[in-house]
Amino acid sequence: MSELKEKAQSSDTQKCIKCGGRTALVSGYWNYDPDQEPYTDGIEESSEVGRGDAYMNGFICDDCNTIQDVFVDEENYKSRLSELESELAAVKEERDKYREALGCGEAWPITDVLQKLVESTNYLLDVYNYDRVGWEEVSYCTKLGVQYIEKINAVLAEQALKQ
Ligand SMILES: [Zn+2]
Repeated sequence: MSELKEKAQSSDTQKCIKCGGRTALVSGYWNYDPDQEPYTDGIEESSEVGRGDAYMNGFICDDCNTIQDVFVDEENYKSRLSELESELAAVKEERDKYREALGCGEAWPITDVLQKLVESTNYLLDVYNYDRVGWEEVSYCTKLGVQYIEKINAVLAEQALKQ
């Protein structure tokens, strides 16, 4: 008995349709677009099947790499989809907590509050020549305040695009 036939007989997967070899069950994620000539070669038309993705299973031959009996793994697809939906909901919940803490959607979000504090502190420093103990730190904090406003506004602008 040839090695190929021995292998084929020792497995419980289907035999290769081309060479009779042993096949392995494989699974993968498939992201697809309809072909421009989906039904008839040489005739462009739009396919009833739209873009999509799916988890697929199939059998591949050990010896000639022929892939056969490919089928959609609905179970895997649905459970992965619901996992992703839960992850997305958790991320959105987290994002909303941060947005609330930053006063997004409020009349006075943190960036506007910080801006007013920086302005009034600079006024005290410059116009009233504020020089009590720790004025250097207060002055440094106004510079940091301006940087934080820029960083927070940049992140919030990014978030707004993602919504
Ligand atoms: Zn084969």
